[in-house]
This record gives sequence, structure tokens and C-alpha cells, in this order.
Amino acid sequence: MRITVKGPEEEKHKEIMALRQKVAGGKASEEDLELLKSKTKALMDEILSRPLEEVCRIQEIECKIPEKARIFSSVTCSCCGEKVMETRARVKDGQPTCIPCAENYNRGWGGS
Ligand SMILES: [Zn+2]
Repeated sequence: MRITVKGPEEEKHKEIMALRQKVAGGKASEEDLELLKSKTKALMDEILSRPLEEVCRIQEIECKIPEKARIFSSVTCSCCGEKVMETRARVKDGQPTCIPCAENYNRGWGGS
């Protein structure tokens, strides 16, 4: 959701900001302070007296929530050529291998 203030207030807003900076910098006179107060109030009144849709533009921003259950890609077993889900694949010599093949491999190495 994004709210953008639009309209001719921007110029007035700049005036107010300039005055505020003056005040913050300790360079403001009594007059400046009064001016800041009245300008701020005038701007607020103006904004508040108008319908919200006119002052702000409210946009619904669509955000895509990634699906929880992602589909895992499958890999091909380097041993028997079977398609194996990536999450279930084992790795043998740096190659994806299905579980049965990986087990056979391990057994083979375990020595009989
Ligand atoms: Zn295999």
C-alpha cells in the first residue's frame, strides 16, 4: 500500500519546510515563527477540509507471495537414467544419483 500526497500543497509545503529549517537553525524571528504556525495550520486545514481521495492517492500494490510448496526440479540419475526429485537425489562422484543407485554404490564400496 502506498499513499502519495498530491496537489498544489507541495509549494506551500516547501515554504513550511524552509521556515522550519530556519527555526531549527535558530535563525527564525518571531515573525517567522508566527508565519510557520499560520502556514502549517492553513495547510492542515486545507488538507483536512478536502475529501481524502483528493488529497491522497491510495494504491493497492500487489505483492506476490511465493508459493510455499515449490515444485522441485528433477534430476536424472547418472547411473540408471531415472528421473529423481532433486531433494531426494544423492550425489555420487559429483553426479546426481537416485537413492537405489547410491545405495548400491555404497554397498559396493563397503566391500563384500
Ligand atoms: Zn539410478
